[in-house]
Amino acid sequence: MADFSIDPNFQEQLDWIREFVKAEIEPLDLAFAGEDMVYNKASAFYEEAIRPLQQIVKDRGLWSCHLTPEYGGQGYGQVQLAYMNEILGRSQFGPTVFGSQAPDSGNAEIIAHYGTPEQKAKYLEPLLDGRISSCYSMTEPQGGADPGVFKCSAVRDGDEWVIDGEKWFASSLRYATFLIVMVITDPDVVVHKGASMFLLPADSPGIEVVRNVGVGQEAEGHGGHAYVRYNSVRVPAENLLGGEGQAFAIAQTRLGGGRLHHAMRTVGAVSRCLDMLCERALSRTTQGELLARKQATQEKIADSFIELLQFKLQVLHAAWVVDQKGGHAARKEIAAVKAATPKVYREAVLRTMQLHGALGVSNEMPLANMLMASVTMGIADGPTEVHKFTVAREVLKEYAPAEGDWPSEHLPERRAAARAEFADLLERSVSDH
Ligand SMILES: Cc1cc2nc3c(=O)[nH]c(=O)nc-3n(C[C@H](O)[C@H](O)[C@H](O)COP(=O)(O)OP(=O)(O)OC[C@H]3O[C@@H](n4cnc5c(N)ncnc54)[C@H](O)[C@@H]3O)c2cc1C
Repeated sequence: MADFSIDPNFQEQLDWIREFVKAEIEPLDLAFAGEDMVYNKASAFYEEAIRPLQQIVKDRGLWSCHLTPEYGGQGYGQVQLAYMNEILGRSQFGPTVFGSQAPDSGNAEIIAHYGTPEQKAKYLEPLLDGRISSCYSMTEPQGGADPGVFKCSAVRDGDEWVIDGEKWFASSLRYATFLIVMVITDPDVVVHKGASMFLLPADSPGIEVVRNVGVGQEAEGHGGHAYVRYNSVRVPAENLLGGEGQAFAIAQTRLGGGRLHHAMRTVGAVSRCLDMLCERALSRTTQGELLARKQATQEKIADSFIELLQFKLQVLHAAWVVDQKGGHAARKEIAAVKAATPKVYREAVLRTMQLHGALGVSNEMPLANMLMASVTMGIADGPTEVHKFTVAREVLKEYAPAEGDWPSEHLPERRAAARAEFADLLERSVSDH
């Protein structure tokens, strides 16, 4: 039976995290807004404001809790991480201070899993220690959801591979020390067997950032997502991550946990929306009464609360399945959570925006940014439609076609079978009347 209980020691840690995020991290969100700040580890801000907080987290034994102790983490199960990420999801800098910032967290996971000892020493250790940033470069301009259209390729040349092609939306490349690049290494087989991953130093000659792309209302040229061209970029053969042709298996290791962790943080963002909604309902008066007295407002509050509760339980359940059976066996649950995330988030933001009127859509509330974040949740790490396809495929595996021409729930057939079973009793009951 699923168990989401929290033991008292862990509850103490959660209480501490909640207070720490509120007192120490949320002020940073307000004073130093901007996605760039999270990744620029060479900045004075990072050195003076972030590192001391990271040290407190390390001393408290809460650094990179998603990793095993071998890699300096705590080896927390997913249910524990769900409770923790819910709190961190309320703050922009929370994951950075706790050593679980994407894409570094996912990149660290795959190097830990597939890297050679040399690769781990060179790339993983400084990454885990929060000294450098990394980038994950898979999506291409002509398509992200369908790897079948990927063209960026690498050709072997002696002890090196030579990469040519374009990639799109490579987040935080601007600040990365290295990239994990997925490229076609064998064009003669299906892409799922012919793609490989390389650890590529970001200062390799031939990497050309065409432009950095922003999201929503970020100024043109100032975004954090690179459109990048690889012009005959040479990478040593020893930088191959895992085996040749293994890129998709590696990507699954990375994306499964990442998707779930996004959802866990979204639980925190959605509960922040509910907090804003309720506070507004109890603060604003219209037509002589509080908004909270209006039935339409009560419906918004009830819907937001119900959906938050359902979503939180769904996330906890998926986390529990991963803990019990592993990520591969939890594909259906993870895909279902990924498909639910943008919808629950978007609806919660829209209700809260609506109740705040002009203030809600203004740049004086966090809601417009949250709305954009909810929309990107339905695209990044694969579009919702693709995850729904996975859910449906996995659900259908548990079913079989009806045996005859009629559905197995067809009443006349079932009734005839039941009547045949009770024929004797039915006959006696009729003669009793
Ligand atoms: C904020 C953000 C950060 C990102 N960071 C990274 C990163 O660091 N590295 C990286 O490699 N990529 C990154 N991406 C890219 C992301 O992975 C892709 O955007 C995603 O895989 C979708 O690819 P696409 O944008 O090319 O859309 P497409 O593949 O063109 O899909 C567009 C739309 O078509 C529809 N569609 C697509 N396939 C199907 C289908 N099978 N059935 C039905 N409808 C379908 C859906 O409506 C979908 O939204 C990021 C994206 C965002 C928004």
